Amino acid sequence: AKWVYNFGAGGADGHADMKNLLGGKGANLAEMAAIGLPVPPGFTLTTEVCTQFFQKKRTYPAQLKDQVAQALLLVEERTGQKFGDVTNPLLVSVRSGARASMPGMMDTVLNLGLNDQTVEALAKRSGDRRFAYDSYRRFVQMYSDVVLGIDLSHFEKLLDRAKQRRKVKQDFELPAQDLEKLVQDYKACVQVELGEDFPEDPQQQLWGAIGAVFNSWMNQRAKTYRRLHDIPESWGTAVNVQAMVFGNMGEDCATGVAFTRNPSDGTNDFYGEFLVNAQGEDVVAGIRTPQELTIKARKIHGSDMLSLEEVMPGIYRELCAVRQQLESHYKDMQDIEFTIQQNKLYMLQTRTGKRTSHAALRIAVDMANEGLISKSKALLRLKPELIDQLLHPTLDPKAPKQVIARGLPASPGAAGGKVVFTADEAVRRSRDGERVLLVRVETSPEDIHGLHAAEGVLTTRGGMTSHAAVVARGMGRPCVAGAGEVQVDYAAGKFTVGDVTVQEGQILTIDGGTGEVICGEVPTVPPKLSGAFGTIMAWADEHRTLQVRANAETPNDARQAKEFGAQGIGLVRTEHMFFDGSRIVAMRQMILATDEADRKKALDQLLTMQRKDITELFRIMDGRPVTVRLLDPPLHEFLPHTEEEMASVAKAAGVPLNRVRRRVSDLQEANPMLGHRGCRLAITYPEVCEMQARAIFEAAAIVGRERGNQPVAEVMVPLVATTQELSILKGVVEKTAAAVQKEQGVNLGYHVGTMIELPRACLQAGRLAGQAEFFSFGTNDLTQTTYGLSRDDAGAFLPEYKAKGIVEQDPFVSLDQEGVGELIKIAVQRGRAAREGIKMGICGEHGGDPASIEFCHKVGLDYVSCSPFRVPIARLAAAQAAL
Ligand code: ADP
Ligand code: MG
Ligand code: MG
Repeated sequence: AKWVYNFGAGGADGHADMKNLLGGKGANLAEMAAIGLPVPPGFTLTTEVCTQFFQKKRTYPAQLKDQVAQALLLVEERTGQKFGDVTNPLLVSVRSGARASMPGMMDTVLNLGLNDQTVEALAKRSGDRRFAYDSYRRFVQMYSDVVLGIDLSHFEKLLDRAKQRRKVKQDFELPAQDLEKLVQDYKACVQVELGEDFPEDPQQQLWGAIGAVFNSWMNQRAKTYRRLHDIPESWGTAVNVQAMVFGNMGEDCATGVAFTRNPSDGTNDFYGEFLVNAQGEDVVAGIRTPQELTIKARKIHGSDMLSLEEVMPGIYRELCAVRQQLESHYKDMQDIEFTIQQNKLYMLQTRTGKRTSHAALRIAVDMANEGLISKSKALLRLKPELIDQLLHPTLDPKAPKQVIARGLPASPGAAGGKVVFTADEAVRRSRDGERVLLVRVETSPEDIHGLHAAEGVLTTRGGMTSHAAVVARGMGRPCVAGAGEVQVDYAAGKFTVGDVTVQEGQILTIDGGTGEVICGEVPTVPPKLSGAFGTIMAWADEHRTLQVRANAETPNDARQAKEFGAQGIGLVRTEHMFFDGSRIVAMRQMILATDEADRKKALDQLLTMQRKDITELFRIMDGRPVTVRLLDPPLHEFLPHTEEEMASVAKAAGVPLNRVRRRVSDLQEANPMLGHRGCRLAITYPEVCEMQARAIFEAAAIVGRERGNQPVAEVMVPLVATTQELSILKGVVEKTAAAVQKEQGVNLGYHVGTMIELPRACLQAGRLAGQAEFFSFGTNDLTQTTYGLSRDDAGAFLPEYKAKGIVEQDPFVSLDQEGVGELIKIAVQRGRAAREGIKMGICGEHGGDPASIEFCHKVGLDYVSCSPFRVPIARLAAAQAAL
């Protein structure tokens, strides 16, 4: 078997589509080499080696050693150097690379192959002792940390001591002889900690590092990241061994990272940072403040350090050409790593760049307009969930605010919360229901859980590509990075800016779109839905065939839904209108009434309220269909349960306490979800059904007169199991309609339909369609009744079911296509066979879930109905389903 793939100058064994085998980094190194970019030569040990490694008690496949030796020979040929040679040594990096990018999760070792002999050769050939020993020092430190598992603090202490002795502040101020001494101190420390010598043999170093990368697949950080991002453990990581190039060889050397477009707002600007005379992780580690790539970015950020465009104009132009080539090749925004060694550019990594949802939309639209991708590709590229992030509020520009500091706008959106200084504290407080804002000097992979728990993150060091910035963008958390004026004092649990002090627990707000750090809470405003968002929605509407409606009962929700593009209301839950304030009193009077006259009085009150509400909805929806569901929950939900509450209800409703008690106990049910609810209420209290139908039709008549055209009223009967139920209630509704038409002298266009939410209804769909003019699948109840699973009780064991792989997804979040979906298919087919063109939709929670929407499209529903904020998501998901 082939376990090792080569890449390098002008060719490679692999290519970009081999990510499963070569990992993301390896596949893209191969691809870049193949399209002629300057990639230092190297080779990739496949993810299958990793899989075998863990299956076979951490041992390697038999042929691996030989294949690695062969590959190393090829690298030696391509570089003209020799691994371990004492005159012209080849040095390599050993880099991990999983299929999906896992930023910072795995460890990389640079400068491998150095020892007391080869370092002298490096010094001689480069003519720079300081550089050679700087590289050696970094290597011993990294290798000891990553491979030998020795705590970094030992080395930091030694380094600090060396700097103190020399009375300097920065690493790069240490002269060669100090570094030489430092390496010996490091090694002595390894001896003490480990009880054996630091490995001098390059082969031993190489295999040690390879083993460490594979082992790191199972470290805690990597496991956490996989859990949070649903990456299966079985994927494994690849290992890349690559000839070193040096960005730390002098002033004509540098290392940097860049995005081919701005990852924060998506503008088509080259965006990156670099450091002169530096190596590897220096840029992201925030040790020195990096410089900008372009003059434009330097001016925007008011930086006084020159940009790459100014410092190395030739290299900058070359890098711009690489940017063009990568974008036209990959047809997407790329995130790249590069190093400049003595005025020569090398490419070390490319991958699809992480971006904010704003940037994702903008880039997709721009790339389609530039002709780089098609409109449908642009639509398919956008995860519907990312729309969610855009719909969230930003700071009210008119609100007063006390800006205390400013950093880089690293990930947009406004976030406010109580200040915490550690990831653990963020998790603790957010578990208690508090909103927190994480404030750190910088973040590292160990802080991931805290970033997740926090509303947003503020760092005082690091740039747009720092760890905090990258991770926050990926998670959709607002982030302000590198706010240098903020002085964090972890020990005292506070930070200061000038003379302002903010203690842990105080409220702070950040604006990730502007970089502002603000004291206290700031009011927010709803997002603007124009620009790229509008374009994408318009393109989605061109492609989708499913209609999108919203579930709404309040005027605010209805307006919001319309603004988000809802084509109607798919579900008005009338009971929600009865729960509020004084209304519940009337509802209770109705339930507690003992005679016809009392009940009639209460119903009249309810009629007035209901008519007003529905009138308002018809007005807002302006001719779009509105589906009103008859009363659904069991009556006891409207009644009080403690003795105290009963007493106060008795008083408010003006009835004896005893009657309340009796009624409450009469209405008690063992299993209310399957009890006296839905159409069963309307069957036993037809006067309630009549009142609701009257409210709907009188509202329609009012709005019809106002506008000169009739609203489309759809009356929906819930929880139907038998055709008789539906035909009885349809009779009540039709009789009421006839009465209202006669009283008001109008002609009402209306439809009577049913919710399909019981398995029996699915099976009887053919006969139900004889009566029903539309079906709306109530998939919340249909899931409960198909699974025999109560939504309110599932929480107790569903997580374990998920962990054990019994269910893949919570069936209340994403439709169970094999079970519930089969019933829906049967109902669709039988319903359509009985009544041609019968309108069908879905109004359960699933109507806003992209996977469920795709299913609805496939089985041929006419519309989905979801909560207002999910309407745009549903529009995009519906378009994707159609593409
Ligand atoms: P990560 O996945 O954490 O980014 P990388 O493997 O990309 O880890 O490497 C860490 C850093 O070392 C990066 O800045 C990268 O560019 C640099 N690096 C890796 N290999 C080499 C090499 N052969 N020569 C010079 N720099 C390298
Ligand atoms: Mg790293
Ligand atoms: Mg990298």
